[in-house]
Parts: sequence; C-alpha cells; structure tokens
Amino acid sequence: MTLTRQSLDDPRAILHWAMDTWGDRLAFTTGLGAGGICLLHMARQKSARVTCAFLDTGFHFPDTLDYLDEIQDVLDVRIQSVHPQPYGPTWREDRLACCDHRKVAPLESALAGKDAWVNARRADQGGMRASIPFVERQEGGFMKVNPLARKDRAWVDAYLAKHAIPTHPLLSKGYGSLGCEPCTRKLKPGEDERAGRLFAGGKTECGIHTRLTVDRGDGKR
Ligand code: SF4
Repeated sequence: MTLTRQSLDDPRAILHWAMDTWGDRLAFTTGLGAGGICLLHMARQKSARVTCAFLDTGFHFPDTLDYLDEIQDVLDVRIQSVHPQPYGPTWREDRLACCDHRKVAPLESALAGKDAWVNARRADQGGMRASIPFVERQEGGFMKVNPLARKDRAWVDAYLAKHAIPTHPLLSKGYGSLGCEPCTRKLKPGEDERAGRLFAGGKTECGIHTRLTVDRGDGKR
C-alpha cells in the first residue's frame, strides 16, 4: 500500500500504510484518549494481532482503570499495562522526575526493538503539536506516525459515535483530557482540551514526545 496525497486525508489509510510498512515493528500505545481509541479501532479492523501498551503510572483515576477493562472488551484488543520500576520519585516532590520515571522510562522499554510508533496527537491541540507532520523521523531513524495530525476533536468524537465506541467516563464530567489524577483537573469554560493537564514547569507535554530515546536494537538511537 502506498500513500497518496488523497489518502493523507484519511487516518485509516495512513495507519494501515504504517501497519503494512512496519508490521510487528510498529508499536501501539494508548493513554485511553479519544483519538487513540479511534486508532486502535482502525488497527483492529485490519488485524486481529494488534496489541497495545498502556503506561500505568500508579496514579490514574479509578475510572481510567475501569475504562481500560471496558475498552479491551469493546475493541477485542489486548492492552498490556506497563509499570514503572518501584520506589521512584512522585509528583509531590518533582513532576519532571516523576514523569520521567513513570512514563518516559517505561515507554522506552515498551518501544525497545521497534522501528515506529503510532500516535494520536493532532495539530489542532496546539502548543508543540501545532505543526506535527503525518510522519516524523527521530535521530537514529525511529519513526512516529501521526494519522490524526490534520483531524480535529469533532472528527474524533464523530468517529467514536459512528462506531458506538464508549469514551472515557470522565470526559462527560468536565475533563477535556485524562492523565494521572494528581496532574489532571477539570476544564474551565473556554479552555482547550489539554488545558487541564498539569506538567512540570507549566509545560504542555509530559516528556514522552520530547525526552524519549528509543533503542531499536541496532545500536542506533
Ligand atoms: S502526570 Fe503527574 S503523577 Fe503522572 S507521571 Fe507525570 S508527574 Fe507523575
């Protein structure tokens, strides 16, 4: 399958191209956000062998863990929880160190040996995401695929509604995006969907898209 200019408007075409291109060396992860669930549904339509990783930081809302169980049944896909090493720093002392310990390092382990990783980031989320391309090449050759780069939240919500896929239960209770409980708050009127996510130093990213170093197994990073 090749990508054409036309297919760039179709997240499913981009995703299925990535699956054909990298096969088992393409990684899926999810934070259980609406966009990621769309992509998992599309991936599952193409292959029953799709597996996915979820970063269980130890600080998620109970609702998130309930939704994790539910969505695996709905999509008929296995989502493997990835845990940090015990006894690391927490958000109470240092959010940067906590994210590195509970998100970045476990994700680096989960992605080791892979060539590419599917992301649900969208340019309309703004901040560092405002100019993301469909495919990014990191130093060392690791690839990030962003099928939803040019879609917006309304498109994602319409996709989930069309396929009768449930969303995270807290999205209907004032939250715009769900992360760890101590670092996620409800939105105030007029705020964009990620405004309720709290990271070190007022940053808009936790580090998995900015401080990740993947060992593809060929000695290059
Ligand atoms: S989002 Fe908060 S609790 Fe979660 S890993 Fe980062 S600092 Fe820790």
